[in-house]
Amino acid sequence: MFDKILVANRGEIALRVIRAAREMGIRSVAVHSTADADAMHVRMADESVCIGPPPSPQSYLSIPSIIAACEVTGAQAIHPGYGFLSENARFVQIVEDHGLTFIGPSAEHIRIMGDKITAKETARELGIPVVPGSDGGVATVEEAKRIGREFGYPVIIKATAGGGGRGMKVAASEDQIETAFRTARAEAQAAFGNDEVYIEKYLQKPRHIEIQVFGDGKGNGVHLGERDCSLQRRHQKVFEEAPGPAISAEERDRIGRICADAVAKMGYRGAGTIEFLYEDGEFYFIEMNTRLQVEHPVTEAIFGVDLVREQIRVAEGLPMSFTQEDLKIDGHAIEVRINAEKLPDFTPCPGKITHYHVPGGLGVRMDSALYDGYTIPPFYDSLIGKLIVHGRDRQEALARLHRALGELIVDGVDTTIPLFHALLQEPDIQSGDYNIHWLERWLAEHM
Ligand code: ADP
Repeated sequence: MFDKILVANRGEIALRVIRAAREMGIRSVAVHSTADADAMHVRMADESVCIGPPPSPQSYLSIPSIIAACEVTGAQAIHPGYGFLSENARFVQIVEDHGLTFIGPSAEHIRIMGDKITAKETARELGIPVVPGSDGGVATVEEAKRIGREFGYPVIIKATAGGGGRGMKVAASEDQIETAFRTARAEAQAAFGNDEVYIEKYLQKPRHIEIQVFGDGKGNGVHLGERDCSLQRRHQKVFEEAPGPAISAEERDRIGRICADAVAKMGYRGAGTIEFLYEDGEFYFIEMNTRLQVEHPVTEAIFGVDLVREQIRVAEGLPMSFTQEDLKIDGHAIEVRINAEKLPDFTPCPGKITHYHVPGGLGVRMDSALYDGYTIPPFYDSLIGKLIVHGRDRQEALARLHRALGELIVDGVDTTIPLFHALLQEPDIQSGDYNIHWLERWLAEHM
C-alpha cells in the first residue's frame, strides 16, 4: 500500500486527488511552479516541492523535475490529474523505470488511444461502433476528395494527434475540401508537431455522449453510465450532466455493456472515458480518454462512488470496490465549468480574487482551488472552479443549480457565471433539447 503519493498537477484537480488520498490515510506531495507558491494545492498537501518557473514546459511538464520530487520526498506513486502529463506514454514509462507507480493505465494503452487512428482501429476490433470515415491517415487532397465522394458531404478533417478541439476542419462540399484539408494539417503541425489527419463523416446534429469506464487491469471492467457533454463552445465542454436526458435505460445498458466488455478485453487499468457522438439512436465512437475527466463528479454524484479513490486502489493492485450489479443510478447531476473569462469573447481574465463565497446546502459540491485574496496566474488554463449539483431528478438538479449559482460569489475577475444564469432561462436547456451545435448558435444570437 502507498504511504505517500505525488500529485503532478495544480488547481482544483490537485485538490481533488489530495482529498481522496487524505481520506485513505495516504500522505500527499504537491509540486508547483514559482507562480503557484501560494496556490491552494500547495497549502493543502502534506508536503510540497517547487519544480520550476511558471511556463508549464519547465515545471508541470518537466519529467526530470517530477521524478526528482518523488525521489526527495519518498513518494511511491504519481497521480497525473488531467491535462499536463496525464496522457503521456513516455512519462508513464519513465515513472515505471524509476520503480514508481503511475496511477492510471499502462503506457501501451495510453499510446494506442493517444493516436486517434489506432484508437479507432482498436475500438472497431473491440466491437465498439465508430464514425464512418477514412481507414487511416489521409495524405493527399485527391484522397480526401475520394473519401468525400464515398461518404458524402459534409466531412470533418481531424488531426490524428488531436486534442482540445484543435486541428479540426469541416468541409461542406468538394470545393471546400482542399482548404479544409490544408488548414487542418497546418493547425495539427503547429499544435501537435504532427500533421497527419484523417477524415470522418460530419454528423449534423449529434449529442456528445461519453461512457465512464473502469478496469482493474486484470480483465475486469465496468461502466458507470453516460455523461451528456453536448453543450460546447469551440469543441470545449462547458456544461455536463448525467444521466443524459436523451438516453434510455436500454440504450445505456447496450452501449455500457459494449464499453465494459472492451475495457475487460483490453485489460485496461483505472478510469477511462469512451466518447461517442449520438444521433438517431446510434452511437459512434470518436475517441477514448485514458484519464480522469474534468466532468467526472457528475458520475460520482449519481453513482455515489469516489473515482479517484478507486484509481488509487487499482494502482495498488487491489480489486475494484464495486461490481456492475452494485452500480445503480441515483438521481441526476449537473456540472458547470466556472472559467476566469470575459464574456462575450471568453478572453482569459487572470487577476486577484477580492471576494469568494462558496455555495452550500443539500446536493451542492464546489471543486475549486480559489480563496479570498488569491491571484489567478496568467500561465495556465482558465478553469477556476466546477459547481456540481445533485438532485432526485433533472428538475430538482436544475432548480438546485439555479439556487447555488445565486449563492456563488467570485469578485475581482470576470467569470462565466453569467452565462449559466442565462442558459438556465432557456426552454431548450430546461427540457434537455440540445445538441453539439446548440450553444454556438445561442452564443451567436445572444452575445
Ligand atoms: P478532441 O480530442 O480535440 O476533443 P474529439 O474527437 O473528441 O476531439 O471531438 C471533439 C468535438 O468535436 C466533439 O465533441 C464534437 O462536438 C466535434 N466532432 C468531432 N468529430 C465529429 C464528427 N465526425 N461529426 C460532428 N462533430 C464532430
